[in-house]
Formats: sequence, structure tokens, C-alpha cells
Amino acid sequence: MSAEVAVVGSGPNGLAAAVLLARAGLGVEVYESAAEIGGGARTVPLFDADVRHDVCAAVHPMAAASPFFRGFDLAAHGVELLHPEISYAHPIDEHRTALAYPGLDRTCAGLGADGDRWRRLMGPLVARSPGVVEALLGDLRHLPRDPRAAALLLARILTQGLGFRGPEAPALLAGVAAHTMSPLPALPAAGAALLLGHLAHATGWPIPRGGSQSIVDALAADLVAHGGRIHRDSRVTDLRQLAHARAVLLDLVPRGVLGIAGELLPAGYRRALERYRYGPGAAKVDFLVSEPIPWRDKRIGTAGTVHIGGTRAAVHAAENTVAAGRRADEPFVLLSEPMTADPSRGLPGKRPVWTYAHVPHGDPLDATDAVRRRIERFAPGFSDTILASAARPASELEAYNANYVGGDIAGGAVSLRQLLARPAPRWNPYRTPLSGVYLCSAATPPGSGVHGMAGMHAAKAVLRREFGIQGLPAGWDT
Ligand SMILES: Cc1cc2nc3c(=O)[nH]c(=O)nc-3n(C[C@H](O)[C@H](O)[C@H](O)COP(=O)(O)OP(=O)(O)OC[C@H]3O[C@@H](n4cnc5c(N)ncnc54)[C@H](O)[C@@H]3O)c2cc1C
Repeated sequence: MSAEVAVVGSGPNGLAAAVLLARAGLGVEVYESAAEIGGGARTVPLFDADVRHDVCAAVHPMAAASPFFRGFDLAAHGVELLHPEISYAHPIDEHRTALAYPGLDRTCAGLGADGDRWRRLMGPLVARSPGVVEALLGDLRHLPRDPRAAALLLARILTQGLGFRGPEAPALLAGVAAHTMSPLPALPAAGAALLLGHLAHATGWPIPRGGSQSIVDALAADLVAHGGRIHRDSRVTDLRQLAHARAVLLDLVPRGVLGIAGELLPAGYRRALERYRYGPGAAKVDFLVSEPIPWRDKRIGTAGTVHIGGTRAAVHAAENTVAAGRRADEPFVLLSEPMTADPSRGLPGKRPVWTYAHVPHGDPLDATDAVRRRIERFAPGFSDTILASAARPASELEAYNANYVGGDIAGGAVSLRQLLARPAPRWNPYRTPLSGVYLCSAATPPGSGVHGMAGMHAAKAVLRREFGIQGLPAGWDT
């Protein structure tokens, strides 16, 4: 083996880094422990060969907007991002639903007296969306290129959308903040809420035709076309196995890094990785259903994503309970019925439904019944449409992907401390103290999501420091 670069892990960040390094002319080998590539972006037939389920990531506001994927150009690689009529829906009770449409005007019109406030909150961010995205998906070490966008963002993070009168707008914001699976309200969650919230009206919350795997497969094809190689079923157990490579990138969270390199690391850095905290868990439940979900409010059936959490107060209470290590009576549930945008995902009479509930770290709960009841409340009759279901408790997610420690799908707790020093306090979070060894997973800035940005930031550092190449390959903004 004579690779110049070895990448451990074929998640979106590992593959993004591999693509950039291969395009820069380097020999790249990717080692993936699983039989299939893609990490948190794999799509499989769970119950029926004709019905494809996203196991982890399903909806892609960040892939649509991220500078890495803008440079990669998913459409040019045959990936079709399909936009549902409603970006996300949030049923509040039996009579009220908050809706985030792709169009800001339509969203504001549905928010009554709060419409103007929503426009004042989101409008300026939508207008400067590339600057907002760059600020939030950056490496936290460079001044924002659009200081005005960063200032607008900061002001909104600090006020956290206060001043709304009705329940709908606060519920919309709480639903997107809850993606961080952290205590609410909190500053990092407010940043995530504004990122995801404004993207609903900017580049949208699309669903890829055929599932998330189409994004992974496009990256893998590009890597191979540029001379890279991917080794499936190849778990790296000791960093010294990769001594042949000039540079190594680890698409791993600290637990995985300690597992393969612990004894090689200087004591201070090792202790910092040992202190790294993981957040609450996701309890995954996938359903195969016979017909579209019978939402009481029919408009919800045109949304690509549904947040089942009730009022802002209810979302905050459930998230804080879970963050404190207890099960919520009515947990926050995320749901996507991909056939609302992508009819190719199933068949008439056989439809996939993707859900997960927020639960305490490492919870062994089979959440099927809890999720079913949460859906049933807003879609009476849902239970009668279930043909099959499969649960993956938070305690078992790690067996599926070693990066999901205790079911934490964010690659580590989303706290202010771990936002600023992710995963350890260092000027360049992608470099480790070991010569030529870098981190590129969601445990580095900008954190969780299918955006490829941690891979891009890490690749940039590797190119400059290890190979003396300034900047990224053509097509990517440096
Ligand atoms: C249930 C769930 C729902 C989600 N929903 C969304 C969503 O809708 N939209 C979104 O943008 N994001 C979503 N995410 C988050 C997203 O999937 C992750 O943030 C993203 O996959 C992180 O990418 P990564 O490249 O950092 O790591 P991962 O995708 O975790 O990939 C790491 C890879 O490394 C491999 N690996 C680990 N250890 C070794 C080893 N020792 N040797 C070799 N290989 C190894 C793993 O098998 C894995 O393939 C979701 C995640 C989950 C679990």
C-alpha cells in the first residue's frame, strides 16, 4: 500500500475530504469498517426490496447550501434534490399547525400577527444566506467574509426570536433548535435554529431522489474517478496500520480516535479527548405503511419534515428532561415521509416513514410505541396503516456506526464549550499533536450534518501543511 493519504471512515466528511485530496492529485485510500459506505447517510431496503429507507440522515438543507457541496455540484453528478411543498411542519395541537414554506411570504401569511416579526427575523438572513451559511459552517478560526451577515446573525442568536405573540412562530423556532438535542434555550441551539430556519426559505430542505445514499455514491464515484480507492469491511484498529500514509484523516469522534491511537497521543491531548462529552440519544423507528399518513391537517402531508413537539414550552420541557438523563413523557419526534417529494422511494401501498425520538444518552428504549402514539395524536388512524416497523434504540446506534456514542447523532454534546473547542482546545481543531494525523468528523467544527464541511476544512489543512499546496482544487472557493 502506497497511499499518500489514508482516510478512516466513509461518512460524508471522510468522503468530502477524500474527494478534495484526490482532486488535488494525491493518492487516497478510504478505509470503512462497515460493508456499505456512507456512515450516517446510508439508504437500505429495510422490509421490502422496493422500498428504500434512510437509516440516519434523510433531509438535506445543509447539503443544498454548504460551500463544499456547492463546489462539488451534486446536480452535475446526477443527484437530484427534490423540494417538498412545505419545508417543515410543526403540529401544535389538534387545531393548530405551524408551517415553514420555501417562500417567506407564504410562511409569514400563515403566521398571522407574527408574520411581520418572522419576516424581520428571517428575511435579512435569507437575503444574505451565503454569508450566514459561511459563518455557521466555517472553521471558527477565520473572520466571516460577510461581516454584515455575521452581525445580523449574532444579534438574532442573542435575542433568540423573542417577542412573538402566537404559539406558531415560537414552535417553528423551537423545532429547529431541538435538532441540536441540547438543553433549551441555549446559544448554540439558537445558531442552529437560525441556520436551519432560514434555509427553509432560502435553498430549502430537499430530499434526494433515491435517498441519502445517492449523495454518498456520487462522492464515491468522483473519488474513484480521480484515482482514489475505497476499502469496505476494513476496520482500522490501530493507527500504526496506516504508517505507510504521509497523512491520515480520521472521520471519527474522540472515542474512536482514542480506540485506535490512545496510547500514541500526548497525555494532555488524550485527557482532553477523554473529557469530551456526548449528548442525548436518538431512538430510531422506521415504519412501512400502506398509505400516506392520515394527518388531521392535510397540509402536513405535503411537508418533507415534521416536528412533533407541541408548543415551544413543551419542546423545551421535553428536551431539558432528556438532557437531564430522564425520558420525556411526550418526547420530541422528527418524522419524514420521503414519498411526499420522492415517489421513487416506495410503491403504492408500501411507503417508508422515517422517524426518531429524542431520549437520554444510551437509552435502551424501543421507541416504537412512543413514536406511534405521538404520530397518532395528530394523524388518527396512523396505527392501522402500519405494515411493519423496525426500532433501533439509542443504546444500539453505536453498533451501527461507532461515531454515535450512546446514540448521540451529533458527534458530541452541543454546548458552548464544545462549540468553541471541538473536540479539544487547539488553534487548529483538525490537527492532532501526532505528525500528519488529522480529524475530519462531526466532532470538529462545524459539527453535525451532511455538509462535508469538516472534511473540507481538514483537507485544506492537510494540503497546506503536509503537501505544501495552498488552497483547494479548482471549483472550490478558498
Ligand atoms: C438518526 C439520524 C438522523 C439524522 N438526520 C440527519 C438529517 O436528516 N440531515 C443531516 O444533514 N444530518 C442528519 N444526521 C446527522 C448526519 O448523519 C451526521 O452528522 C453525518 O453523517 C456525520 O458525518 P461524518 O462523516 O462526520 O461521520 P459518519 O457519517 O458518522 O461516518 C463515520 C464513518 O466512520 C466509520 N468508522 C468508524 N470507526 C471506524 C474504524 N475504526 N475504521 C474504519 N471505519 C470506521 C463508520 O462506520 C462510518 O461509516 C442524522 C444522523 C442520525 C444518526
